Amino acid sequence: MSHDPNCIFCKLVDGKIPSRKAYEDDEILVFHDISPWAPVHLLLIPKRHIPSMVEVTPADAPLLGRMMAMIPKLMLDHGVTNGFRIMVNTGQDGGQEVAHLHLHAIGGPRPWAKG
Ligand code: ADP
Repeated sequence: MSHDPNCIFCKLVDGKIPSRKAYEDDEILVFHDISPWAPVHLLLIPKRHIPSMVEVTPADAPLLGRMMAMIPKLMLDHGVTNGFRIMVNTGQDGGQEVAHLHLHAIGGPRPWAKG
């Protein structure tokens, strides 16, 4: 499904729910996590509704590669100069709360609230 009307992140893509955007293009949206657990906590999502890493196929490799590859500059642009963490919670046992694929990019001086 390319769009799920009940998905909170699809609503965010549509602008039906406000977000603090950090980057946007035709395929990807990046915004600040609503409850950050570090000084910088960004979420990167495909605009297309992919529920999780489970549904990713080889055809999605360029999209996922692009998402990964933009993180270093994004973090630098947000003042993160001493390393960061990339996290993709997947499915129930992976602790995924929102069923729209998202990459957490987390950084800034420690201590962090979690991790
Ligand atoms: P977890 O909550 O265990 O980190 P996920 O990996 O599914 O599970 O992460 C979902 C993330 O989405 C959470 O960090 C949460 O704070 C964030 N979030 C939920 N709703 C919004 C929103 N409207 N705007 C920004 N971030 C959101």
